[in-house]
Amino acid sequence: MSELDTLYQEVILDHSKRPRNFRPLENSDRHADGYNPLCGDKVTIYLRLADDRIADISFQGSGCAISTASASILTEALKGKTRAEAEALFETFHNLVTGQPVRPEDAPALGKLAVFSGVSEFPVRVKCASLAWHTLRSALAGEPAVATTE
Ligand code: ZN
Repeated sequence: MSELDTLYQEVILDHSKRPRNFRPLENSDRHADGYNPLCGDKVTIYLRLADDRIADISFQGSGCAISTASASILTEALKGKTRAEAEALFETFHNLVTGQPVRPEDAPALGKLAVFSGVSEFPVRVKCASLAWHTLRSALAGEPAVATTE
């Protein structure tokens, strides 16, 4: 395993053991539930929007280390972002975890999300890593239905 892989593993482990923004959000405008039946991961994303910006974001749920770490890092990455920025980041993240090319100009925006690059080698894990993102999209869209990775 390379040093970079080891570093990435440590970040994922840290966020899965001590998830950030792991709480219900008071005064949330909307929330959405997500479920990944393949692994049993469940996540709820809470949002508070101000104009077109994500003023605050939090999550709750239970699942594997990858799904928890992904939701935790997502909340850190998206706080303060506009809807358009969140959508753009979703596209870049999706490319990263599915092994599609990430445009060099998009890569810096990933920040800590880059730790999920290794997931593309494990198709089952892609759903774990993307669950929080699909759920975020439902919350942004105000869709009442449960988001699934299927
Ligand atoms: Zn999982």
